[in-house]
Amino acid sequence: LLGKPPDYGYSAESSERVNSVFADMHRRWQLGERVQSISLSDLELLHKDGRSIHVDAIMTMHADETGRLESMLGVTRDITERKRTEDAIRRLAFYDGLTDLPNRRLLLDRLQQALARAKRERSCVALLFIDLDKFKPINDTLGHQTGDWLLQSVAKRLLEWLRPYDTAARIGGDEFIVLLPGLVSPLDALTVAERIRAALVVPFITADDHKLEISCSIGVTIYPDDADNERDLLRAGDEAMYRAKNSGRNKVESLHDARVLEPRSPGRAAALVSLVWKPNYACGDPDIDAEHRELFRLANSLLQKAASRDTQAPDFKAA
Ligand code: GH3
Ligand code: MG
Repeated sequence: LLGKPPDYGYSAESSERVNSVFADMHRRWQLGERVQSISLSDLELLHKDGRSIHVDAIMTMHADETGRLESMLGVTRDITERKRTEDAIRRLAFYDGLTDLPNRRLLLDRLQQALARAKRERSCVALLFIDLDKFKPINDTLGHQTGDWLLQSVAKRLLEWLRPYDTAARIGGDEFIVLLPGLVSPLDALTVAERIRAALVVPFITADDHKLEISCSIGVTIYPDDADNERDLLRAGDEAMYRAKNSGRNKVESLHDARVLEPRSPGRAAALVSLVWKPNYACGDPDIDAEHRELFRLANSLLQKAASRDTQAPDFKAA
């Protein structure tokens, strides 16, 4: 490197960093500040075999008796392997090894950020809890490998329906959570959920022409309507998903608002009011909570019936 400029061999971006640090060092040196050494981390350097490697560099300045900068001694350390290991560790810590989707830990991190942002911007955040229906029989009849392939294919299909800033995470065996930040209306979440439900019933065809048919149950939970913190949102989503399972699978359920979940037939009037059960009403006793929610459902269904009767019989007094 004798006689070569200090940024010799670095990538364009690293070269820019090196030059800017050197310019600063020169300026300070001319003002009388004797900068002894400079250290730069993670520079990209071209190896003589043509590969690009990552290095940390420390450069020490040497001046003559008059104080004129004379030479520089630089030591670069190859950190490529360390960086590769760090990247691998990060992937293991934050991504699911089978589908390459974010795992629960990364999802929770992104959820926290999404909620903080939604509070500032007064927008909505939705979580879709997705559990595949009758996935176990696929493993049992066609083998674990086919099951794995199906999980990977489901992951890919989920991503097709999402915006670049949404997150689809795999949080367990056949369980996924989709995070939809920055929604203008809660209804958007139900639309996406319905699209995903419909997309997953389209058969998956394996390389050896096996046709795999599945479906999924989706629970939708929305900030700020259903809960205002992570813990309650997660609990609400889980409950909604189990409601979808228990009411026959291949369904989208939400605790959000019964009105928007039950598709109304044309001409059928909406109830003027409806009751919304929220997770923070829960007392913790599953039986009491289930009864409580059922009361809400019955009340809403009565209100809905009353509204429908209203439209069927315009002359309410006569009716
Ligand atoms: P349900 O309709 O009630 O959701 O039932 P299910 O058959 O889908 O089964 P469930 O959701 O209760 O359990 C998921 C199953 O997924 C359990 C396990 O056999 C299987 N599983 C979990 N992890 C993996 C995996 O990494 N690969 C494969 N192939 N199967 C897995
Ligand atoms: Mg399942």
